[in-house]
Amino acid sequence: MTDPTVVVALDVGGTGMKCALVRPDGSTVHTERHPTGAARGPDAVVGTILEVAEGLAGKARADGLEPVACGIAVPGVVDDARGVAVWSANVGFRDVPLRDLAAARLDLPTTLGHDVRVGGLAEARLGAGRGTRHVLFVAIGTGIAASHVVDGSAVTGAHGAAGEIGHILVRPDGPRCGCGRPGCLEAVASAAAVARRYAELTGDPVSAAEVADRAAAGEPAAGQVWRETVAALADGLATGQALFDVETVVIGGGLAQAGPRLLDPLRVALHERMTFHREPRLVGAALGDEAGCLGAALLALDALA
Ligand SMILES: [Zn+2]
Repeated sequence: MTDPTVVVALDVGGTGMKCALVRPDGSTVHTERHPTGAARGPDAVVGTILEVAEGLAGKARADGLEPVACGIAVPGVVDDARGVAVWSANVGFRDVPLRDLAAARLDLPTTLGHDVRVGGLAEARLGAGRGTRHVLFVAIGTGIAASHVVDGSAVTGAHGAAGEIGHILVRPDGPRCGCGRPGCLEAVASAAAVARRYAELTGDPVSAAEVADRAAAGEPAAGQVWRETVAALADGLATGQALFDVETVVIGGGLAQAGPRLLDPLRVALHERMTFHREPRLVGAALGDEAGCLGAALLALDALA
């Protein structure tokens, strides 16, 4: 008979929540998606999170499964140890004790983690970093953030803010970042920055994916933006490698969907920047947008052990 144990897992994003029941081996038995509704304010979002989590636990029991824990991933600054969503720009959280709220509502041991950190955890253990002990997962989407995973655990930092590779200074005279400083990696090479830069040059507002397509088709302005993006990312990753000396760098997030169009030139550019460093293996993410949810489940299971 199969083990009936499952974890209730939620990955809360700025627009949507990915939710699942996950077995201890990382396989998913049920998934749901719900709108976050961030415009309703943080209290309403917390209400929805608790309702959805409770619904998933009920669904598990109705299907003869046994929910043993709940794992929740949220963006922003997350204090894993206290289980508090400290700050989040896109969901509006300010010091929300989400772990304790969910634990009380579900009567299950609950963990709270950072979306990119747990995404990295999942990629390192179940995805593209599998089999290597030192992994840096870099998510390139609207922003850029990273997760440094060592021996299957994601480093959180002293204040829950480790991995903010998007705010490494790469272009001192570059565009101003959302954090207030000029020239951060995120301000130059995020998917949002790629689209913005291309629109500046051409007046044509298209997505980063479209810029990648046009660059591959030989369109000069798109080619220029793409080369600038790759160069900035390589500068950021070279700094990351100097700090962390990892075996594998996993590139995820929306921009990674460009696949070899991103990874091939990025590998070359990173190679050019290595001096004494050992060059990491550079690969695309394997778990797609499921990584956060799976990672939230892994974090919850780790806390039980
Ligand atoms: Zn910044």
